[in-house]
Amino acid sequence: MSASKTFQPHAGDAAGTLPALYARWVEAIIHGSLPVETEATCSDCVMCSRSAEPAHTEQFFFDKGSKCCTYTPTLSNFMAGAILGDPSPSMTSGRASLEARLSTGLGVDPLAILPPPAYNLLYRHSQNAFGRNRTLRCPHLDTDLERCSIWPYRDPTCVTWYCKHHRGKIGQSFWNALLIFLNEVIKELSLWCVLQLHIGDDALALLESRKRCGTTGENLQASELDGRSDVCAARKTWGRWWKRETVFYAECARLVSGLDFQEVERICGPELQMSSRLVKLAYDKLQETRIATHLQIGRFEVEDATFDAVRVWSYSRLDPLDLPVPVFMALSYFDGRPTDDALSMVEHDLGIRLDDQLLRTMIDFGILKTRQEPGEETERASSSAQA
Ligand code: SF4
Ligand code: SF4
Repeated sequence: MSASKTFQPHAGDAAGTLPALYARWVEAIIHGSLPVETEATCSDCVMCSRSAEPAHTEQFFFDKGSKCCTYTPTLSNFMAGAILGDPSPSMTSGRASLEARLSTGLGVDPLAILPPPAYNLLYRHSQNAFGRNRTLRCPHLDTDLERCSIWPYRDPTCVTWYCKHHRGKIGQSFWNALLIFLNEVIKELSLWCVLQLHIGDDALALLESRKRCGTTGENLQASELDGRSDVCAARKTWGRWWKRETVFYAECARLVSGLDFQEVERICGPELQMSSRLVKLAYDKLQETRIATHLQIGRFEVEDATFDAVRVWSYSRLDPLDLPVPVFMALSYFDGRPTDDALSMVEHDLGIRLDDQLLRTMIDFGILKTRQEPGEETERASSSAQA
């Protein structure tokens, strides 16, 4: 018996590729290759409707012209410099899209290029809009070529977000740990660049006070509402780099480009050591395939049911599983008793044999979970090993 994912994967998308700068730091932590999320088929987006899908599922799908790019990334000072300094023809529209953001002056400061305040306001107050509107579409989405124009330099959210995960909740946990790590790296390295480049004490004080103000875009200034930046404020923010912003970003890129992971760790401090440790733990868990000796039902919701299958989702509504009806019925046998006993009873009562791969999938997706008692052996030898 097996469970089918909601959509068939198109294997081979290298969607898990990180920007080269991040890749070498992450590889120094995990000592292995990154997972490739084959279920998230970005070049033929799995979240966009196939004509064969029934009409009542329309609400579930993403807009074909936006996909999951209804988001504007925050680009760190050094990544902005790297984009502007990349002369390759494939980056032409990426550079142009960034120059367009810079030309407005909105959200542009020495630490990063942030989404414009009015965009932030809309983003936070939109419901059910993610993936399903065009107003919030990313300025770096090249709609002619239907691709991300800054792909080698995406921000941590773009790099780590997937609609579906090959290992379900366990896969998502890894990417979430990586997101926290990369955000920490960016926060600290951006600040380090600012300090190296001496923007001036007044400008530093202004950046610090903005950090304490928290979220931008809750109350818009008149100029922000009209899509204009405040020139006086920008002059103060940029200090001695005023009118030389792109040179500043280029310098940031130069400073960061040669750093190895040891140097990054030294600059970023103990917070980064903690988040890199958590990335490693999440990665190790991703390599784990053994099945617990005692299993019980996890938390999930039933989305839909037909004569043949029950569609359930647990960690994410975007990543449901279609369980054949007998498999769904078998779940009630997993009440914390030994896994092998539950499997024998399922086979006896329902006439089906649940294999290790199916059990693994249901555990990965949180449909089943480990019953853990203090001091108890929690890993079960696989059925093939027993045979
Ligand atoms: S990650 Fe985004 S682009 Fe890729 S398949 Fe999922 S929704 Fe589509
Ligand atoms: S930067 Fe690229 S991947 Fe990220 S939202 Fe924009 S177009 Fe999509």
